[in-house]
Amino acid sequence: MGRFDQRVVIVTGAGSGIGRATALRLGREGASVVLVDVAEGGLLETENQMADGVSVLRRVADVADEAAVTALVAETMKTFGQIDVLCNIAGIASISGAHPPVTENSRDEWEKVLAVNLLGTMLTIKHVAPHMQARKKGSIVNTASVAGIRSGAGGNAYSASKAGVINLTMTAACDLGLDNVRVNAVCPGLVETGMTQKVFDYARAHEKAHKLGSRCELRRYGDPAEIAAAILFLASDDASYITGQALAVDGGNTAS
Ligand code: NAD
Repeated sequence: MGRFDQRVVIVTGAGSGIGRATALRLGREGASVVLVDVAEGGLLETENQMADGVSVLRRVADVADEAAVTALVAETMKTFGQIDVLCNIAGIASISGAHPPVTENSRDEWEKVLAVNLLGTMLTIKHVAPHMQARKKGSIVNTASVAGIRSGAGGNAYSASKAGVINLTMTAACDLGLDNVRVNAVCPGLVETGMTQKVFDYARAHEKAHKLGSRCELRRYGDPAEIAAAILFLASDDASYITGQALAVDGGNTAS
């Protein structure tokens, strides 16, 4: 028996990195998986990597577009008839690739980063949660970041969006708890994914790869599968008495 047998799980950001690792493990643990991303190529690659026999629905959608989210949820319900788990993993670090100080940041940058990371998380919860409330069960796992707990120069839009995700996690847990719908978040530390690839490429090119992850107590960066393991724990019945929490999965970065 897998922990997610008979469970239907929506995974946003499933076309890359942490979302892909989460979708693949969910499939291995018995779930039917709805793969969602704005990037179709990544989604196809994730679908190709899913274990044999897993039921998959693949959907290109922008989580910041409410009409797209509404259509995604309707199609999931039509296909599977239920939604047990929502994993909100889609996110962006910036639109320009740069991380300017607050005095130089643009309104466009702020609006886009907040739209995907924070509004996108809210919209999927808004449209998925009623189906969970109707069945009096469900679990939602959002993806914040250590950047939402502590920050550094230049990360203002991303950090604010992730701090917002942590707070939204708590408020949504309060809104949905009476209906037995749990809402939690993970706060990953540095992980090698599409989002951070330039940082890793630069460090390797300058023989500084050993410094990546050196700011955390385990003295290494994380693997997407390690974040996926924490997401599956919070999503599963193993975490049945946990709601409204933000779990740092960061090698101890925020411990010191
Ligand atoms: P990634 O870039 O590899 O994956 C993010 C995925 O989200 C991509 O496939 C992208 O196409 C998708 N996406 C972007 N905008 C979208 C939208 N509007 N609608 C739907 N899909 C969209 O990055 P990742 O590192 O796997 O990031 C996953 C989550 O983890 C993000 O929320 C990110 O902020 C968070 N996170 C990552 C790190 C890290 O070090 N990689 C650290 C902390 C938090």
